[in-house]
Amino acid sequence: MLIQELHNDLGYNFGMLKQSKFIKSAAAWEDLPPEGGKEVALWGRSNSGKSSTLNALCNQHGLARTSRTPGRTTLLNYFQVIPDRWLVDLPGYGYAKQAKHRQEDWDTLISRYISERHSLMGLILIMDIRHPLTPLDQQVLEWLGPLNVPTHIILNKADKLGYGAQQQILHRVQNNLSKINAGITLQTFSAHNKQNLSNLEHVIENWLEIKS
Ligand code: GDP
Repeated sequence: MLIQELHNDLGYNFGMLKQSKFIKSAAAWEDLPPEGGKEVALWGRSNSGKSSTLNALCNQHGLARTSRTPGRTTLLNYFQVIPDRWLVDLPGYGYAKQAKHRQEDWDTLISRYISERHSLMGLILIMDIRHPLTPLDQQVLEWLGPLNVPTHIILNKADKLGYGAQQQILHRVQNNLSKINAGITLQTFSAHNKQNLSNLEHVIENWLEIKS
């Protein structure tokens, strides 16, 4: 376990991720771009701030809105950073109003995507720092364990807490994680004030093998 608290940035880093553009949505395995590129997927509980994180990363307010229009929230949304390098916005989990049968369809596609997609270099898992490791998050982490997909957790909405409380939660989550799924990295984050954004960018850029 490594706590990636290297940067505490309130500034901007005009890196490659900022150029990302929405290209397509995939509703089925056949819709995914051909294997051979590199992809980093963003996932997390609904309302944890996945869309806000994508917007912060890409520095384009409203970019992820595309993926939130009705119908699109069920799809894998592909944002191209540069040719063959993608950010993939996965449907959030745990949204109570999702129709049961549709939820199962997505679950099948998402679990196949995460377990079989060769282009998937890493997973960014977003949690609300005030409610980290919900039972659903724990199920997800246990399921991810044997798949060996590099995973980096961001504890989002850190701006809601003081620094001391953030650190306390960070260490508690780190301890709990070592019992569930070792090898996962972790940081605090705020999509709103961009706290530790550059650390998140570095993780993603390393996985995608692109340099700012
Ligand atoms: P998603 O459902 O996971 O895509 O979550 P959204 O990005 O739509 O965010 C859900 C709610 O949390 C919205 O009201 C956001 O404004 C809020 N939110 C997201 N990120 C942050 C953050 O870093 N700080 C605070 N205070 N609120 C946030």
